[in-house]
Amino acid sequence: MTQPNQALIVVDVQNDFCSGGTLAVPHGDEVIEPLNKLIDEFLERGAPVYKTRDWHPPTTKHFAAYGGTWPVHCVQNTRGAEFNPALRDDPRIDVISNGLGDSDCYSAFDETDLATRLQQQNVEEVVVGGLATDYCVKHTVLDALKYGFKVKAVENAMRAVDLQPGDGERAIDEMRDAGAEIVTARPAGDSIKPGAQAPRTF
Ligand SMILES: [Zn+2]
Repeated sequence: MTQPNQALIVVDVQNDFCSGGTLAVPHGDEVIEPLNKLIDEFLERGAPVYKTRDWHPPTTKHFAAYGGTWPVHCVQNTRGAEFNPALRDDPRIDVISNGLGDSDCYSAFDETDLATRLQQQNVEEVVVGGLATDYCVKHTVLDALKYGFKVKAVENAMRAVDLQPGDGERAIDEMRDAGAEIVTARPAGDSIKPGAQAPRTF
């Protein structure tokens, strides 16, 4: 069985969503290690890697102060909007910015050219992780499915905001029910030994 053409989508691993940020996701920093491993793996085999980022103007209806839900976060060209410095960086990684206007744009496909770019790269399946499970990850996964991509959602490479307890769990169920495969990335350091038939998640 041949492996489908895959792309990796790393959702919103930005300072404001990590510890010390204005909208810190509980345990958000824990996604970095498994995501770095996936980034390395994808780059090594020449597969596309995308990092998405919330990239808001200082004034937007997305923020509570202007009628939205959230505290101010990820304002363009501020430290809070930068990717967490521990997240792997590489010139081969493409950045998708969203939330440039007044709409919430929880999905990386909202008002971006991500779908077109993936189609041009003949991507059949996207592997998704990042922050947060119950918002941008979930909506990105659901949109990817709507665009006809197969999706692997990496459960141990995402964390939830959990405004209501259980939101993260429900988001996982919703993604699974919509057709995403919920998978677990191998822990860091668990390299495949030569000759061994180690299970390969991706
Ligand atoms: Zn936002």
